[in-house]
This record gives sequence, structure tokens and C-alpha cells, in this order.
Amino acid sequence: MISRIDLRGSLPSDLRSVLPRPELDVEAALDRVRPICEDVRHRGSAAVREHTKNFDGVDLESVRVPAEALDRALAELDPAVRDALEESIRRARVVHRAQRRTDVTTQVVPGGTVTERWIPVGRVGLYVPGGNAVYPSSVVMNVVPAQEAGVGSLAVTSPAQREFGGLPHPAILAACALLGVDEVYAAGGAQAIAMFAYGTEDCPRADMVTGPGNVYVAAAKRLLKGVIGIDAEAGPTEIAILADATAAPVAVAADLISQAEHDTLAAAVLVTDSERLADEVETELKAQVARTRHIERITEALAGRQSGVVLVDDVEAGLKVVDAYAAEHLEIHTADAAAVAARVRNAGAIFVGRYAPVSLGDYLAGSNHVLPTGGCACHSSGLSVQSFLRGVHVVEYDRDALAEATARVVALAEAEDLPAHGAALKARFDWTIPS
Ligand code: NAD
Repeated sequence: MISRIDLRGSLPSDLRSVLPRPELDVEAALDRVRPICEDVRHRGSAAVREHTKNFDGVDLESVRVPAEALDRALAELDPAVRDALEESIRRARVVHRAQRRTDVTTQVVPGGTVTERWIPVGRVGLYVPGGNAVYPSSVVMNVVPAQEAGVGSLAVTSPAQREFGGLPHPAILAACALLGVDEVYAAGGAQAIAMFAYGTEDCPRADMVTGPGNVYVAAAKRLLKGVIGIDAEAGPTEIAILADATAAPVAVAADLISQAEHDTLAAAVLVTDSERLADEVETELKAQVARTRHIERITEALAGRQSGVVLVDDVEAGLKVVDAYAAEHLEIHTADAAAVAARVRNAGAIFVGRYAPVSLGDYLAGSNHVLPTGGCACHSSGLSVQSFLRGVHVVEYDRDALAEATARVVALAEAEDLPAHGAALKARFDWTIPS
């Protein structure tokens, strides 16, 4: 069901190359999405509607979701789901509000200051996936940090669903309504990303697009980066678990399965120094998968080359492996899990101990679940308030402070053969305020 990689003895120098990873060919998907994005660029809404018809099987007059549909979805939302969404929003808000940045002014020299001013992005498009599964939780995870950052204009898009009359899934619409988002579109895939990047008759262009999605969404974001700002690539989900002999096989197997449930390309990786635990987890996987609803999807994800059990000599070696892997989600199931977690350098989010499973983070921990995948966690962060802010340096020098800096600026400008730079400073002192 799941392959084994035995790294006991010594770890290879290029650890990454021997670790499991999905065969996610974003480069090939780029060829697929390029004509779609060009089409939206040139034909606007008509192209978005046509690709929605092709990929989602829905012929829409407009991809803009009417306000009544949002109200209706909220009115008809199951009370238990509403309660859970409200609590998820509350917890996410508490965490993200605490991430707000304050402007910092530094006095560099007497009369000379630099202030870092945090300014929210003006308009943001938020992508909520809706192909295999629907993610009202992703509405919360995108919208809350953007709102807490102070983004003025927010639009959500999610694929049109044939079974719901061409609207996004009602739970997604209800989540938008709960969060006070009234600009919602029924569009998915590359055409939705291009709609935000170029703007259409229906949808004004956005400065930035965020949110997870499949390989076509990731490819469109990579292609249009620059035309529009993007967050980290958040592709098929990944869980890595670093566990020792103290871990509970039942919980470890359940957590591997929980993320494999997302997608046939989802990755589930166990790194352990205990062969006994590895055996017991494999036995548990067989037993638990047989009892799940999405047996085929999970079986394919666990059997895929992106998933595996990695055997190492000790937790120390395990730490090297999980750092090289840089998982989207990393769980630590070892003795003194907090101390081990504190030493991890590369992960999108870290879940410490038996009582902090990834599923809690997916919905209700308060943390964000839009996280970097594919090893990007070694250089990128998950979505946060910071994702929606730009730090702008505001420079204020008075006459004396500039005079004091002039000789050094001139020296550096001459060294770079850019004398006009130095002249720009000197010009101020040769000039008097007109009377
Ligand atoms: P999706 O909304 O990302 O993609 C659906 C869209 O893909 C369709 O509307 C269609 O336009 C487009 N599409 C489908 N086939 C295509 C083709 N052959 N060519 C061009 N476009 C095509 O939904 P999904 O497919 O369910 O994928 C969601 C992904 O998001 C999963 O991989 C899941 O693991 C991931 N996810 C990641 C996170 C995270 O934080 N990393 C969170 C939630 C979900």
C-alpha cells in the first residue's frame, strides 16, 4: 500500500532526490493553461464563460454570483456547519489579528529617519478550490488574513458546480456571506486566475491572487506572476510525520489517511527510527483505509511515488530528512515533541504531539491552512496578514542630515560612475529658496 525507503546507515548527501514527491508537472500544465490565459486576456468575460463551459460543464450568462444566492446559501446552511464555520472564523481572526504589523520609525542620524510603513494590497482575488472537494474552510483561510490586513477590495472565486445550477458550492457561498464578502464569481482553474490578472467586463483586475488549487491553478499563477502578485504555490497537499517508538500507530495512520483524502496526488510521508512503528502503521493503514469513504482516492495517494515510509537511524537523522523534505504540514510524534519541533527549520506548519493533528489545522486551530507545498516551505510561508501587506520605506532627512551624508554619497556615486547621483545632492546646496 505504501512504499518504504530505508535510509538507515548513512543519509545521502542529496537527500531531496531520494525522498518521495508527487509527479506534478507544472511545466507541462503551463502549455495547457497559456492559451486559456491569453484567451481571457483578449476576450475577457466571454472567454471565462467558454472555458467554464468546457471544464466545468456549465453555460453561464455571467460568472458573477448574485447577492440573493449568497443570502439563500447562508439561510439554508446546516446549523452545525454554520456553528463550526463561525468558530473557525473566530479563531482564525484572533490569530491573524495578532499578526498585524505596526509602522516602525528608525532614527538613522540626527534629522534623518526611515519609517517602514505597512500598506495593505488594494484589491485581492481569492481562489477557493472546487474540483474534487469543496473547501468552505479555504474561504475562511483566504479571507480572514486579507480582511485583518485591511485589504479594501476582496473578491472570491470558486469553480461553477453543475449540480448547484452553475453556482459555486452553497457552503462556499455561505462562508462568503458569513465573512461579509459580497463579490463572488463562479469560475475555476486558469481562467479564474487570468480573470483576476487581466480583469474582464464582469470583474475588475486585482493586484494579487492567493489560494490553493490544482496543477492548472498553480501553473496559471506561475505564468501570470508579475502581471499579478501571487502567494506561494500551494498545490496538492502533503503531510510528513516524524515519529519515534512512542507514537500511537492508530493516530499516525489516521493522519496520513486524512491528508491522502484530498487528492490522488496528495503526499503522505512517515519518517521514523522505529521499524516496529512502521510495521504497525502499515497494518493500521490497511485496516483504516478499508473503512473510509474515499477508498480509491486514498489508496492511489498512499501507493503513489509521492508517499512513503522513510526509515532512519534516529530522530536526529529524521530531523535532517524532514528539513530536506520541507513538508507543507509536519507532525511531530516523538518523546519531547516540543523540543524536537523547535529544531525544525523547514515546514509550512508544524503540529506538535498527538493532540495537534493536521485536521485541526485544516479547520479550527486558528492557524492558516494555505501553505507552501512541493518543497517551497524552505523559502516561503503560508498565508498570513503579512501576505497582504507591503512594507514601504518612507525616507525623511532634513538639510543638515543630507549635508552630512553628501560627501559619502558622492564618493559612492563616483565609484559607480554615476556622477549625476552625487550632483543631485549638491544641487540642493547651491540653490536658495525663492523669495
Ligand atoms: P481546483 O478548483 O483547483 O481546480 C478545478 C478547476 O481546474 C476546474 O474548474 C477547471 O477549470 C480546471 N481544470 C480541470 N481540468 C483541467 C484541464 N485538463 N485543463 C485545464 N484546466 C483544468 O480544484 P481541485 O482539482 O479539486 O484541486 C484542489 C487542490 O487544492 C487539491 O490538489 C488540494 O490538495 C489542494 N489544496 C491545497 C491546499 C493548500 O493549502 N496547499 C488547501 C486546500 C486544497
